[in-house]
Amino acid sequence: MSERALESVIGLEVHVQLRTRQKLFCADSTQFGADPNTHVCPVCLGLPGALPVLNEEAVELAVRTSLSLGCRVHPVSVFARKNYFYPDLPKGYQISQFERPLATDGRFAVEREGGGEVSVRIRRLHMEEDAGKSLHDRVEGATAVDLNRTGVPLVEIVTEPDLREPADARLFLQGLKRHLEYLDVSDCNMEEGSLRVDANVSLRPRGEASLSTKTELKNLNTFSGVEKALTREIERQRGLRDAGELVQHQTLLWDAGRSEIRPMRTKEESHDYRYFPDPDLPPVVVAESRIEELRSELPEFPRARRQRFIEQYALPDYDAGVVTASRGLADYFEEVVDSVGDPKVASNWVMGPVLQEVNERGLGIVDFPVGATALAELVQLVEEGTISHRVGREVLHRMLDSGRTASRVVEEEGLAQVRDSSALEGWVLEVLEAHPEEADRCRGGEHRLIGFFVGQVMRHSRGKADPKEVNRMVRAAFGGETDGSPSEA
Ligand SMILES: [Zn+2]
Repeated sequence: MSERALESVIGLEVHVQLRTRQKLFCADSTQFGADPNTHVCPVCLGLPGALPVLNEEAVELAVRTSLSLGCRVHPVSVFARKNYFYPDLPKGYQISQFERPLATDGRFAVEREGGGEVSVRIRRLHMEEDAGKSLHDRVEGATAVDLNRTGVPLVEIVTEPDLREPADARLFLQGLKRHLEYLDVSDCNMEEGSLRVDANVSLRPRGEASLSTKTELKNLNTFSGVEKALTREIERQRGLRDAGELVQHQTLLWDAGRSEIRPMRTKEESHDYRYFPDPDLPPVVVAESRIEELRSELPEFPRARRQRFIEQYALPDYDAGVVTASRGLADYFEEVVDSVGDPKVASNWVMGPVLQEVNERGLGIVDFPVGATALAELVQLVEEGTISHRVGREVLHRMLDSGRTASRVVEEEGLAQVRDSSALEGWVLEVLEAHPEEADRCRGGEHRLIGFFVGQVMRHSRGKADPKEVNRMVRAAFGGETDGSPSEA
């Protein structure tokens, strides 16, 4: 055995469901969650004589995806039949692309936290139709099949084996998902199967150029699953090598529930697909002029947008990263900046109260009912001191509950900040009376209790008291102590 250290060599195959309303070769709906076998027709059921017709929208989305990943898009590509037998494949073959894929030779890079990047070459990107789905829990003691998904348009993105670490594979996939969401070609919903990953991995002595026998991992339904399964498989291959045994080429299934890998039955693993061009489908032709048009329509991607936010709005790196986490959030942030004026004030509101409400209510930012102008009105009330920041958060909450504007909430619920000194003095006195023991200790020199009293007055006023004024009054009540610890209000 060589004494040289081993490195792992990882490649990925990512299946992405394209965001079309209709299937790839028929007019059935692609909607998720319908009753089993309700979105089917003679074409996707593979009935004799039914002819497929290519969905042009799917081709355009696939070309967009290819261009965004720096791939060369081929003006002519060819659909082929991939033949295999499985219960969820009624035609007995899957329409895919084999010898002549839509696109090749791309690259996609993801920034590492703390500098550097994970850069991976894209070997190819091709279009294909999805298969159906076996349902093991629907009928007691039997497996049922749902063909709604049969014929749904996918692209398969195949990388070169450029990844070395399972954690990098995860980072790459997270970056790719965000990229595809920005591109708006897929909803990338992993729970609904819109983004699925297979991985292959082998080990070799560091510095060696040739590849060793690899194994393939399937059923990786989460990004953490990808990382865990790869880590487990690398350990297994290392163990085999240490024991002087050979790694067999095989397909392995990841069992997320048990966190273990098991081999697929060999019957399921037959690789003799006998590909041949589909005689029912003409070659896919995409005009060069259309390719260039689609290239010019590509959106600004997360890295570029983040950089622009740092330069154009003078945002801290951290803020720029948070508000560009999704395209919807970045769009919203830019609208808020337009309405509010100050980018840092805008990012504080978007990163804080807005995202908190979005998360707590389980909303997507695109469905967030408080638009940029409505939020700007609220921010204005806080900035000019009509309400405190704390009350501002509460007002946002009530705007969402009731659909009212910020100023209406403040007016109808009497939330405007109170600066009137007789009202404030009343509250201060009430709080001092309610806490005689603490008041005595404070008079006796325990001045750190001033913060406690300011806090109590703010609470007593339901956040409406002007904290600066309260602070001054509490200090005055204890003999004009104006130095010492800063206010906790
Ligand atoms: Zn159909």
